Amino acid sequence: MADDIGLDTKALWSLSYGIYIVTSCSGGRSNGQICNTVTQVSAEPPRVLAAINKDNFTHKFIEESGVYAVSVLEENTPMPFIGRFGFKTGRETDKLTGVEQVEGSTGCPCVTENAISIFEAKVFATVDVGAHTVFVGDVVSGRVLKEGKPLTYTQYHANKGKAPKNAPTYRPPEKAEEKKGDPSMKRYVCNVCGYIYDPEEGDPDSGVAPGTAFENLPDDWVCPVCGAEKDEFSPED
Ligand code: FE
Repeated sequence: MADDIGLDTKALWSLSYGIYIVTSCSGGRSNGQICNTVTQVSAEPPRVLAAINKDNFTHKFIEESGVYAVSVLEENTPMPFIGRFGFKTGRETDKLTGVEQVEGSTGCPCVTENAISIFEAKVFATVDVGAHTVFVGDVVSGRVLKEGKPLTYTQYHANKGKAPKNAPTYRPPEKAEEKKGDPSMKRYVCNVCGYIYDPEEGDPDSGVAPGTAFENLPDDWVCPVCGAEKDEFSPED
C-alpha cells in the first residue's frame, strides 16, 4: 500500500538553483532579467531551458526573436547588480546601459560583468506552464570568461537576496515576531524587492551598526538588495 506522503510544497525549497541573467533582443531593443530557472537538458545536441514569466519584458523579446543569452553570475556578484536586473523593469529603465557586455551571434547582448560564462540559445521548443513559458533552446555559442564559482540561489538568500513576486520560486515573506513597546526597533520593508531592514541587525556591509533605527539610517543609505532609496520603504505591518 502506498504511503500518504502528503503535499508539503516546502519540499521544493530544497531544490538547488543558480542565478543567471537572461537577455534577449527584438526590433533593435534589448532587455535582461534575473532568472534562477535555467538548466541544461541535453548534452548532444547541447540544449538548455529557461523559464520566464509571461509578464516580464524579456519574455516578449524572446517570443518575438526566438533567441536568448544567458550569463552565469559569479559567487561574489554585488547585490545591487542583481537588483538592477531582478527588481527593475526594462519598460521603465534601460537595464543594460553602462553594463559590460558583448554582442552575441544572435544579436543578444551577453552580459560579461560579474559573469563567469556566457552562452546563447535559439528557441527549439516552448512550453506554456501557466504563469511562465519554458523556452527550450539549442546552444549556438558559449564562452568561459573566467575561473570562478557560480552564484547559487542558496548563497543569494544567505546574502539576504529575495525572489521577486513573479519568480517561479517566490515565497511570501515571513512575519517577524511582534516586538512590542519599542517603536525604534520597527522593521521596514523595501517596496521594490521585499528586503526587510531589521534594526536589530543593522546593515553591517554598509557600515550601519546593529541597533540602528530605520529613521536614523543615513539619507544616502539604499536597499542593499535592489538599490532603492529610503523613501521606498514602508513600516512592516
Ligand atoms: Fe530593495
